[in-house]
Amino acid sequence: MSSDSSSPQSSMVINEAVKTLREGGLVAFPTETVYGLGADAKNPDAIKKIFTAKGRPSNHPLIVHLAAPDQFDQAQIDWVPVLAPWARDLSEDALKLINAFWPGPLTLVFKKDKSVLTELTGGQDTVAIRAPAHQIAQELLRKFNGGVVAPSANRFGKVSPTSAADVRNEFEGILELMILDGGDCEVGIESTIIDLSSGDRAVLLRPGLITPSEILAKTGIKVHLPGESSISDEAADLPRVSGSLRAHYAPNTPLRMYAPGMVLDALSEFPDTKSRVAVAVWDSDSSLGDDGHPSVYFEEVIIPSDSVTLASRLYRSLRDLDQQGWDLILFPEPPAGEEWDGVRDRLQRASFGSGPSSSSHANS
Ligand code: AMP
Ligand code: MG
Repeated sequence: MSSDSSSPQSSMVINEAVKTLREGGLVAFPTETVYGLGADAKNPDAIKKIFTAKGRPSNHPLIVHLAAPDQFDQAQIDWVPVLAPWARDLSEDALKLINAFWPGPLTLVFKKDKSVLTELTGGQDTVAIRAPAHQIAQELLRKFNGGVVAPSANRFGKVSPTSAADVRNEFEGILELMILDGGDCEVGIESTIIDLSSGDRAVLLRPGLITPSEILAKTGIKVHLPGESSISDEAADLPRVSGSLRAHYAPNTPLRMYAPGMVLDALSEFPDTKSRVAVAVWDSDSSLGDDGHPSVYFEEVIIPSDSVTLASRLYRSLRDLDQQGWDLILFPEPPAGEEWDGVRDRLQRASFGSGPSSSSHANS
């Protein structure tokens, strides 16, 4: 996946970013999924800065980002030496997944090597690893020549950034931050996460662009859903995936979903006569017309009815709508089907966590 050619980042800027990382500083950089907030994965103080900057609870683990070796034929890459310092017990399935999808938007969870800092694993004995495909991320990682932890570059629980300007807005006045600009992210939602740490089965921890069917088709590996996983996984009361919190990725404006054809009911549940409501409508559907709830002002926002395109614009739309001062944002429930799981998951959590974060109702 290429970076946006309208905002190329010069080698000099990337060298500066590498220096910042080496000195224990933070650098925000583009990946094909969302922008990451990067720090040296071997530096506990740098890792602490990430948790502080994001306001993220320290028991929520981070993903280690690694460079793909610079090789003419990407299909010939030997990933074993790349992973050896980080992960134990690389299974045949792990190598199949890696060869099929790296570099790309797939994160794999392994048993960790003992040298991996527990600060980044949230105290767990597993480590999550990904090789991002974005050209700027790759160049940064290759020149840094080490692992970079990089959670999404947003305050904890909020909407993930998909442009350099989003990152700037997110940390304005909070943190002086070096931001590499790679234009808009292509995938637009976070990576698919597959847990391989049990050794015998692959378990989907977070849905993303790469679906279990695609994995089955390309590798023959069956990915199990978390519900099908062993009881001990569920009994362990650990936040294995921060995105697994019910509330996450959330705008400040209340966000709700409406069932097909039920927009009027959704509007009437919000009967404040002065309300202004943004109603997202599939581009494949006919317009709602003027017959909304009579006492509510609403405007339609057309959204793509293709899952990949909507994913690429989902956080952009949520951020833009959040800026526009609506009282409520309504999104249609995504249709059934695995290709929608990533978007549905983000919308559900975003609506659960949406609304002003303060517990008071002061800002009416
Ligand atoms: P973000 O917060 O956007 O950086 O997403 C990173 C995701 O990777 C989070 O949901 C983490 O909890 C998840 N993750 C990192 N390490 C692990 C691990 N050892 N086991 C399971 N999930 C992990
Ligand atoms: Mg995040």
